[in-house]
Amino acid sequence: MSAKEVRTIGFIGAGNMPQSILGGMIKGGYPAKHVLASNPSRPKLDLLEEKYGIYTSQDNHEIARKADVIVLSVKPQLMREVCEDLAAHVPDLDKKLIVSIAAGLRFARYYEFLGDDITLIRCMPNTPSLVGAGVSGLVADGKATTADKDFVTQVFDYVGLTIWLDEEDAIDVLGAVAGSGPAYFFEFMHGLQRAAEELGFDAEQARAMVQQTALGAAKMACESDLSLIELRKQVTSKGGSTAKGIEVYQNAELTDISKRAVEAAVARNQEMA
Ligand code: NAP
Repeated sequence: MSAKEVRTIGFIGAGNMPQSILGGMIKGGYPAKHVLASNPSRPKLDLLEEKYGIYTSQDNHEIARKADVIVLSVKPQLMREVCEDLAAHVPDLDKKLIVSIAAGLRFARYYEFLGDDITLIRCMPNTPSLVGAGVSGLVADGKATTADKDFVTQVFDYVGLTIWLDEEDAIDVLGAVAGSGPAYFFEFMHGLQRAAEELGFDAEQARAMVQQTALGAAKMACESDLSLIELRKQVTSKGGSTAKGIEVYQNAELTDISKRAVEAAVARNQEMA
């Protein structure tokens, strides 16, 4: 696929996540006339029309019929109902590319809802997609072509980093690291903020200091070829204050705690699948 490939993409469900994705696409130069969205209630659609100039409808069938690529963007618990309704009313679903961003549901469930002939790509975006700094894990079934995968990469690249996975199970691990990860970082940042507050800073200053430090550390990690441990060592002079702080984390086995947190989240993702 050339970087300029355009397909008509229709989002079924216009909640927070599809709004970030289609917003990122249009801000990134994707033609608005090739982006469609459906949603039961009108206010979100009015906002999207006004903000991005896309075509919207309260009728899922209309959007699915007009789209070459259908992005299933409803909550997992509504997926069966929405898919079975599409299967009953939209002809040629097998000639379209279906992408699902719903958490949890396996390929097998979509074949059950939509028929065995569909071509499906599962995507697990994370919340920082809202600010264009997301991580999207992608896994394709055997029918997806290279052009299909390139197109979907292009779509999710508009809101951050895309990572292709070979195995469907890997999406549970990606979800436990990248999907849940922002919550882990917020928890850690909250701890640092609280420590600063307890040592005399007001909440506003403490938060500003912590969030800018997190941003700076993430930026350094992104821009450096050094491993994370090497980067950590670079800011840890022997016998200095950082070394004392790091010693506390190491004594509490922070690395092992992170492993246990990820394992617990993977297990929960597997239970919910
Ligand atoms: P959301 O903000 O709650 O939006 C869900 C949308 O679905 C609402 O706009 C709702 O419309 C609409 N809807 C309800 N019934 C529908 C139907 N029958 N047909 C079409 N649309 C219908 O949810 P979200 O955060 O965007 O999540 C969407 C999907 O992304 C979910 O499957 C979720 O698992 C997945 N996801 C989200 C995130 C995240 O960080 N948000 C991360 C990874 C994956 P009304 O408001 O009118 O009811």
